[in-house]
Amino acid sequence: MIVTKFGGTSVENAAAMRNVCAIVRERLSRQPVVVSSACAGVTNALLKVAKTALVDARQSLDLVEGLRRRHIGIIKELFAEPAGQTLEVAVNAMMDELRDLAKSIAILGELTNRSLDTFASFGERLATLILCEYMRTQGMNAVRVNAQEVIKTSDEFTRATPLFDEIPPLARKLIGEKVQSGHVVVTEGFLGSTRAGIPTTIGRGGSDYSAAILGAALDAEEIQIWTDVDGMMSSDPSIIPTALPIPEMSFREAAELAYFGAKVLHPSTIIPAVKKNIPVRILNSRRPHIPGTVIVGEPKHPYPRPVKAIAHKRNITMVTIISTRMLMMHGFLERVFEIFARHERSVDVIATSEVSISLTLDSEEGLEVVLEELREVAEVEVQRNKAIFCIVGENLRHSKGIFPSLFGTLEDHGIEVAMISLGASEINVTIVVDGGQADLAAAVLHKAFCEPENA
Ligand code: ADP
Ligand code: ASP
Ligand code: MG
Repeated sequence: MIVTKFGGTSVENAAAMRNVCAIVRERLSRQPVVVSSACAGVTNALLKVAKTALVDARQSLDLVEGLRRRHIGIIKELFAEPAGQTLEVAVNAMMDELRDLAKSIAILGELTNRSLDTFASFGERLATLILCEYMRTQGMNAVRVNAQEVIKTSDEFTRATPLFDEIPPLARKLIGEKVQSGHVVVTEGFLGSTRAGIPTTIGRGGSDYSAAILGAALDAEEIQIWTDVDGMMSSDPSIIPTALPIPEMSFREAAELAYFGAKVLHPSTIIPAVKKNIPVRILNSRRPHIPGTVIVGEPKHPYPRPVKAIAHKRNITMVTIISTRMLMMHGFLERVFEIFARHERSVDVIATSEVSISLTLDSEEGLEVVLEELREVAEVEVQRNKAIFCIVGENLRHSKGIFPSLFGTLEDHGIEVAMISLGASEINVTIVVDGGQADLAAAVLHKAFCEPENA
C-alpha cells in the first residue's frame, strides 16, 4: 500500500484532477490511498468568507458564490450532463450550508477558532467529493472516507494535535479494510475531529502531515507527496531559479529544512514516517515521470558536496538576554527557559555565551508578557525583522572547513551575521541575518554552496 497526497495545485482545476486520476491509475498495483488538499486558494478563500462575515455580510456571501462557481465549473468540465447532476446537487447543498454559516457569523458578530475550522473543512470535503466521483466515472473502484472519522485530534482548533493512539485502529478499519477489498480510498488531508466529533484542522499545510499519519497507521510502503515542483530542492525554486532537485535526503535533513521554511513539506510530516521508517517521496504532479526526492532514514548514495540545501524563514524576532551576574548565578538558563515554557512560547534557535543568551522566535504572539518577566531577571534586547538561514547536509559533519568560507562569503557581500548556531546533530548550521539582507544572503549562499561549479 502507498499513500499518495495531492496538494492544492495538483487538484486546482479539472485538468489537474484528470491528471491525478491518471497518476493514481498507473499506481493501482501498489494499492494507493489518495489524500487530497482543497483546490489551490480555497482554504484561504474560506477563511476570508468567515472573517469578512464579521464586517460585511454581503461581501462574504459573494465570496461563497465565487467558490460555488469555481467548484460547479470543475464539475461541468469533468462530467457529462446527467452524471454531473447529482454531484452538482451535493455541491450546491454544501455551498448553501456555507452561506448559512457565514450568515450566522454575521448575526452573532463572533468568530472562534472552532468556527474557523468548520469553514476551512469545506475545501477538502469539496475537492475529495469531486475527485472521488470523477475516479468512479473513469472506471476506478474509488470510495470516499471521511477523514474526520479517522484523524481524531485534540481540541486545539486550527492547530489540533492528532491522537496517535486512537488513529491507527480507525485507519485500519475505515481505510485499510477497504483497500484490502480492492478500493481506492479517497480522503481529506488537513481535517480531523475531536473525540466528540467537532471538526478540527491540524495546521496550515497539514495535508502532508495527514498523509504521513495515515501512512504510518496503515504501515504503507511509501508516502508520496505530489506537488508543483520536482521534489525537495536545494532552495525554494520560486526565489532561487537555479535551485537543483535533490534525489535523496535523510529524514534529519528534510526535517530541518521543513522546519526552517521549505514549505514543500509540512514540518511535522517526517515524524510519523521516522517512527515506522517509511520513505517519503516528493513528486511533481505536472511532471510525474521525474523521480523527485526520496527521503529515507539512511541515504544510500553519497552526495558530492557538503551542503545539500538551504532554507530560510523571514520575520524572525531575536531576543538577547544579558545577565551581568550570570557567572555567579547557576540556574539562570533554567529560569529563562522556564518563563518561555510557562507562556507556551517555543524557541527556534539558541546561542549562549558566558553572559548572554540569544534566541529566535517566529512570531511575537504573547511575547510582551514574556519580556516583562525576563526584564525582572536580566537586561533584554529585542531585534525584529531578522531572517534565519538553515544550511543543511549530512556531510557537514565531516566538512568543518566549510565554516570559514561560509562566513567569508557573507562578509564579502557585506552581510552581517547576528547569530550563529551549530545544530546538535551537526548536520545543520543556522545563521541569523538582517531581514533587509535576506534576498542577497539567499542568492549568494546558494551560489557558493549549492551550485556544482562553485561548491
Ligand atoms: P502543495 O499545495 O502541493 O502542498 P506547497 O505550496 O505547500 O504545495 O509547497 C510547494 C512549494 O514549496 C513550491 O512551489 C516551492 O515554491 C516551495 N518550496 C520552498 N522551499 C522549497 C524547496 N527547498 N524545494 C522545493 N520547493 C520549495
Ligand atoms: N488546504 C490546507 C491549507 O491550505 C491544507 C493543505 O493544503 O495542506 O493549508
Ligand atoms: Mg503544502
